[in-house]
Amino acid sequence: MSSISQKLQAVHDSIHAAALAASRPVDSVMLLAVSKTFGADAVLQAAAAGQRAFGENYVQEALEKMVAVNQLLQTFNVATDKLLLQSPVLEWHFIGPIQSNKTRLIAENFAWVHTIEREKIARRLSEQRPPELPPLQVCLQVNISEEASKSGVSVDQALEVARAIAALPGLKLRGLMAIPEPTDDVARQRAAFRQVRELFSELNAHGLGLDTLSMGMSGDMTAAIAEGATIVRVGSAIFGARTYS
Ligand SMILES: *Cc1c(COP(=O)(O)O)cnc(C)c1O
Repeated sequence: MSSISQKLQAVHDSIHAAALAASRPVDSVMLLAVSKTFGADAVLQAAAAGQRAFGENYVQEALEKMVAVNQLLQTFNVATDKLLLQSPVLEWHFIGPIQSNKTRLIAENFAWVHTIEREKIARRLSEQRPPELPPLQVCLQVNISEEASKSGVSVDQALEVARAIAALPGLKLRGLMAIPEPTDDVARQRAAFRQVRELFSELNAHGLGLDTLSMGMSGDMTAAIAEGATIVRVGSAIFGARTYS
């Protein structure tokens, strides 16, 4: 089996090919490595191969991993000699469902949150974001395949919720995130991603100034890039198949 660095290289090659095929600059797509269920050792192997941004779905698992990674990376605050949880080297993105009792830990320890689907959660994250940190970079999750998934705001609600989030001082609304219904049919993959892009354009026509489309995973990133993804969230193609305990 190939190593994490080899698989990471293969994913970069796919991203480059998809960007070129779509006549997009190759650096217009950022790779978020989804490290959920994998340990600090896997994160460090990817980091050693140049990967900087990591996605996590579960708060407790993520915080334990950040501590372990930073201990190994020795990212101490030189002034206080305290271990930094917020690594200056790596960027952590929260991509899982958000419970309201977890918002403080998310606001304090992540750079990005992709999965905001309620104004109430956004408000808590904004209030709980430490003022010494830059605003939390966020995406509004939209529910494109409405019958298949329960997560995300409907297309109809998106403008109203996006406006409310954009007004919050502790957050910076960057764009939209979606997880369409999984399918091997590339035409259907593209149709779902196209809907997200069209909504993105519509919100920007209302002056929201969004620059991020977080869409595409291991199985559908090529279609997502063809439809304008700026962040692809890729787990198993980098780290291998996940096993849940
Ligand atoms: C797990 C997960 C991914 C990565 O999925 P793969 O199919 O392993 O690439 C991407 N986005 C979200 C929201 C996830 O939960």
